[in-house]
Amino acid sequence: MPLLVMKFGGTSVADLDRIRHAAQKVRAEVARGYDVIVIVSAMAGKTNELVGWVGETSPLYDAREYDAVVSSGENVTAGLMALTLQEMDVPARSWQGWQVPIQTTSAHGAARFVDIPRANIDAKFAEGFKVAVIAGFQGVSPEGRITTLGRGGSDTTAVAFAAAFGAERCDIYTDVDGIYTTDPRITSKARKLDKISFEEMLELASLGAKVLQTRSVELAMRYKVRLRVLSSFDDTDESSGTLVCDEEEIMESKVVSGLAFSREEAKLTLVTVEDRPGIAAAIFGPLAEAGVNVDMIVQNISEKDYRGHEKPVTDMTFSCPVDQVARAQKALEEARATDSIKYEKLEVDTDAAKVSVVGIGMRSHAGVAARMFRALAEEGINIKVIATSEIKISVLIDRKYMELAVQSLHDAFELEKAG
Ligand code: ADP
Ligand code: ASP
Ligand code: MG
Repeated sequence: MPLLVMKFGGTSVADLDRIRHAAQKVRAEVARGYDVIVIVSAMAGKTNELVGWVGETSPLYDAREYDAVVSSGENVTAGLMALTLQEMDVPARSWQGWQVPIQTTSAHGAARFVDIPRANIDAKFAEGFKVAVIAGFQGVSPEGRITTLGRGGSDTTAVAFAAAFGAERCDIYTDVDGIYTTDPRITSKARKLDKISFEEMLELASLGAKVLQTRSVELAMRYKVRLRVLSSFDDTDESSGTLVCDEEEIMESKVVSGLAFSREEAKLTLVTVEDRPGIAAAIFGPLAEAGVNVDMIVQNISEKDYRGHEKPVTDMTFSCPVDQVARAQKALEEARATDSIKYEKLEVDTDAAKVSVVGIGMRSHAGVAARMFRALAEEGINIKVIATSEIKISVLIDRKYMELAVQSLHDAFELEKAG
């Protein structure tokens, strides 16, 4: 039997009506002759509520119990989806992660897949079941504890199942009808793309476009999964939504394909650190150990900068998510207390946001950075930090200008027009 994976996100299973609506889409694929693996998220808002409860109960919580609580939202929707399908005379059953068993690492809150054995589910399909409903976002560690995959992780569950079961396609049903040039909530000029390359989607996701979890795109790219994003609210058919695929399949040739943003960024500057070999390692080692996700890094070039010291000094600036600032400060202060680093002061700016332009066309076109900086200058937006890679340019700016920056860059690169 050909097999499809269909994933329904939180708003697509937000209440019993929405679950029924989603189940009808599943039934339609079964009627077309497919066996279906359905991956469900928790009902909209549920995971946030569970995360809140954990934090209120225990601020420095045990990550294993966090996962036990936070994974439960998906168990409810998996059971309800199986019941709804049964009511429609579609033979279905639900599976929690440990029942498959979905084997993951024991990195609680951010676990990764190790293996998805097919035997149990294949046996059910062989018995005549048409649909396996899987609770997304969860698995089981080698120690036998429940794990979760990080926020947005049901996307990754879906792609991992599509890879493990050789699915014809992995359809991600959500509350938008595809992947847009940027988040359509920020500008009404955002344009839906018919196709986008794995590389570009990977950049957009890792730079903040939460329409797909980054890890899901990585897995789809590695295992050549045909990945599609489409609306669970509209009528859909074979050609709906946006296909994430190899570059070669794409005709559109715009230099910049999309914009992503990340709202909660912070900029930290260590003022006056020694300019000597090993200083970066001495700073970023403790930050890594403390689990701080350092993103952009800038070190001033300062060969002749002494500032009254005997040896040359420099400043080191980096960015990280706002909610990791306290951890970063603590790690740096501890390193300073042991004398492994010295600095005059630590400046912390928690009002930053990151805006990025992404496009594989940048590999062969010059001038994208200049155009980006000009567009921001015309709006009077100051750039705090710049970072580039082969197919993206990111800038850190004041958070209050983030929407304006996205809108003006969308105009500057004429993204509302097809290329
Ligand atoms: P789900 O609950 O279905 O997983 P998410 O909220 O995780 O849905 O992801 C869908 C949301 O992603 C959309 O509502 C949209 O606001 C946001 N989004 C961000 N960037 C983009 C983009 N480039 N294209 C489409 N949606 C985007
Ligand atoms: N329910 C989880 C979350 O909100 C996983 C997901 O929906 O993908 O992050
Ligand atoms: Mg999501």
